[in-house]
Amino acid sequence: MSYHAMPLQCYCGEVPEQILEVGFTSDQHMVIHYWCSSCKRVMFASHTIEECREHCPPAEPEAVAEDARFLLSMGIVG
Ligand SMILES: [Zn+2]
Repeated sequence: MSYHAMPLQCYCGEVPEQILEVGFTSDQHMVIHYWCSSCKRVMFASHTIEECREHCPPAEPEAVAEDARFLLSMGIVG
């Protein structure tokens, strides 16, 4: 399974050092609640399911995913 970190940036351009909370809304948005130490403000980033899908790396072939599951079951994380 490949992994892609979600880019998070405050309006001021700073990358937040601290994520306070991640949650979901009744209208199916994922909300990330973080602290910007530069602005000294609490910020919210909201993403729809479609936006989350856009950030996901492409799916891997089944054989590769199968190997990853096997390695994970052995306690090996690639
Ligand atoms: Zn900021």
